[in-house]
Order: sequence, then C-alpha cells, then structure tokens
Amino acid sequence: MIKKVMKFGGSSVGAPERMKNVASLITKEEGNLVVLSALSGTTNTLVEINGYLYNKNADGALDTISSLKAHYKDFISKLYTKKEYADKATAYVKEIFAYLSTFSKQAFTQVEEKIILAQGELMSTHLMLYYLEEQGVKAALLPALDFMKTDLHGEPDMGEIRTGLESALAEQPGAYVYLTQGYICRNSSNEIDNLQRGGSDYSASLIGAAIKADEIQIWTDIDGMHNNDPRIVEHTTAVHHIHFEEASELAYFGAKVLHPTCILPAKNANIPVRILNTMQPDAEGTLINNKLEEGKIKAVAAKDNIAAIRIKSSRMLLAYGFLRKVFEIFENYKTSIDMISTSEIGVSMSVDNTQHLNEIVHELKKYGTVDVDL
Ligand code: ASP
Ligand code: MG
Repeated sequence: MIKKVMKFGGSSVGAPERMKNVASLITKEEGNLVVLSALSGTTNTLVEINGYLYNKNADGALDTISSLKAHYKDFISKLYTKKEYADKATAYVKEIFAYLSTFSKQAFTQVEEKIILAQGELMSTHLMLYYLEEQGVKAALLPALDFMKTDLHGEPDMGEIRTGLESALAEQPGAYVYLTQGYICRNSSNEIDNLQRGGSDYSASLIGAAIKADEIQIWTDIDGMHNNDPRIVEHTTAVHHIHFEEASELAYFGAKVLHPTCILPAKNANIPVRILNTMQPDAEGTLINNKLEEGKIKAVAAKDNIAAIRIKSSRMLLAYGFLRKVFEIFENYKTSIDMISTSEIGVSMSVDNTQHLNEIVHELKKYGTVDVDL
C-alpha cells in the first residue's frame, strides 16, 4: 500500500513557501508516507526553553515561548488562504504554547524536558495536515507516539513499531498521503522520548524498514552526498550511487547529509535510500543500496576537531596483548577510536571525543612515550 517513505528536514519546511513546495512533492503520486522534522530552528528553541526551565528562569522561558509563538503565528498567516484552515492551525498551536507555558510553574524533570522537545514535530505535521486538507488532499496523520517505541535499552523496538504502524494505517485506510512525526517516540516506560537530535532520518529509516517500503527518500537542501566536503573543497559533485557501508563511513566522518544511525535499519531490510534536494527536486541525488561497485573510490571525507594520539613503546616489539591494554584504557573512558594504525613499535589513533583525553594520555604513558596532536 505505502510505496515510499519521504522524510523532509527542518529547512525543507522552515518557511511557508517551502512547506507548500513539499506539499506538492509529496502529492505527485498516491501512497507516500511522509516523515517531517520540526520547522527549522524550533527544536533549538525548545532546547533553549528547557535550559531556562532547568535553571528555574521562568521569565526567560516565557519570553522565548512567546517569541516562538509569534513565529508560528506569522507562519500560519502566510501558509493558508482559507480562514477555516488558518483557524484550525491557530487553535492547534495555541494549545501547544499554552501547554508549554504551564511548565514554568511545575517541577522540571527529564520527563518534562522530553515532552517539550516533542512539540516541534507535533506542530509541523499538523500545519502540513491542515494545509493538505485546504488543498483538498485526502491526508491522514499517523501519530508517531502511537507506534514509534524504544525498548529498555533505548533502542528502537522493531516488533512494536511494525505492529503499531500496521494498526495506525488500518485505522485510517485509503488516504492519498500519510504524514507522521520524525524524531519523537515513546520509551519502554511509555513516556514521551526522542531518537536524539537529528533523529528524523532514523525515524524514516525505521518506518521504511517496518513497512517494507520500496524506497526511503531523505529530502534535504543539498543534491546528495558529495565526493568531497563542499565546505572545504570547490567544485564538488554529487555521488549518484554508493553502498550502505560507504555511506555510513561518510556519515560518521562528517558528511552532514545523512544522520549515521539512519543507515542500519534500511540496510538490514535491504531498502534503498535516496537522498534528494527539495530545492532541485529533479536532480538525481544519491542512491544508497547494498550494491558495491568494486575497485572504485566514491568520496573523500574530512573530519574536524579530532585528536591524534601516538604511543611508541619498545615493549610492543614482538609482544602480544599490548593493543588490548591500550584499548582497555579507551574503553574505561567510554571513548571510541575512529582510526588506528599500528607498526611494530607504535600505535597511532584518532578520536573525536576529547572529553577524557588528559586521563587517557596519562594512563597510556605507563606503556610508552605518547604524543598528542590536536
Ligand atoms: N527536530 C529534531 C532536531 O532538530 C529532529 C530532526 O530534525 O531530525 O534535532
Ligand atoms: Mg534536521
């Protein structure tokens, strides 16, 4: 029934004109399930509100809530042409902002924090739903909080997601297009939670895998994964086809196009992921699947803010168990090593989490001479 899962990020729906553009992209054919992020800037603002609440600064929280509210008011005034739909949208966001304001009077815990963070996606999907209705499109909203579940370890519960989605779809059969929220979920205590910042890509991949979609499309503001980092290198071009494993290397090593967690569910379910550009919808983009073109280098990625650590030790010569000791130190400080090379008397490693660098270096020095390059 559902053919494609299409995910749109915050910048793709961040202005009324862009949201209209997305509405036309998702209704080109029947049977799409559309995953939306919050309007750009909203989640960051919700994080800011949480910061004020955490610091018991009710005035700061209320001021920020009211400027966010003004932004939505303006957005609504530009999105709809019919009063009926503008009124519906206004009523929806008004309730959310009234609800957000109540938190300034309550005890603030992680539970409230997560509830607050969830409001952005709830608003963007409702704005889109009412806009589609205004356009006469038969759209249905599948509430992510009804099916996107994580388990005791905070990992997505595929079984629950699948059955939850099936029943959500069965409740609203025959819609032309389906919408749902990215990022938000319920945890094993049934509390509102999220899949971490940038998690909407992950939602799309999990949903695509759960319903065995033909394709998962990640719509963003660049025409695909590039062969080099466009912030550093001029004249980069989009890579049209790449293997899942190559794509996850690129995602981990700094390509901001795709959230790294997004690869695995799609890869395991063997569902192709296509990265497309909302500003240039006809551009080919990047297709990611399980087909490897052997002997071909697809792209080069650079990572900033890493530390290179070199340890030299004559004790390593012809010895075994040395690397295990080195790895144990990193493990104790929950620091993962990104790259490693070893020779007979030395090991070079790079890490991007430098939180415990001093402690790690201190311990490594028990085994040899250590150099660090930041
Ligand atoms: N709105 C969330 C964020 O900004 C999730 C997402 O955009 O993927 O992190
Ligand atoms: Mg995003």
